[in-house]
Amino acid sequence: MGDKSSVKEPRGWKSLPLGALPYRLSLDYKTGDWRALKPVIDYGKCVNCMLCWLYCPDSAILWDGKKVFMNYDYCKGCGICSDVCPTKAIKMVPEGE
Ligand code: SF4
Ligand code: SF4
Repeated sequence: MGDKSSVKEPRGWKSLPLGALPYRLSLDYKTGDWRALKPVIDYGKCVNCMLCWLYCPDSAILWDGKKVFMNYDYCKGCGICSDVCPTKAIKMVPEGE
């Protein structure tokens, strides 16, 4: 059997050190200013397949009933939408261009 001296007694939650916790809605934390590259849609190539909308990890792609568009307040510029777009309609360009 193993050495029982290394087994620690279980501790309750009151023994945990205090830490930070976000307490506001995620909508209050705009993450778009992390972005170095910005996705731009060429609507001439877009076929409304919605794959970019499906794969965006930040739910930063929206649908207005006719077309998809980016909510740049929350887009972090990861480029996943550009990678999954079957028609290469989304180009990643340097922020500020
Ligand atoms: S770059 Fe990333 S975060 Fe921004 S819209 Fe595309 S998938 Fe979403
Ligand atoms: S993945 Fe490309 S083609 Fe499909 S909706 Fe998005 S931009 Fe349009």
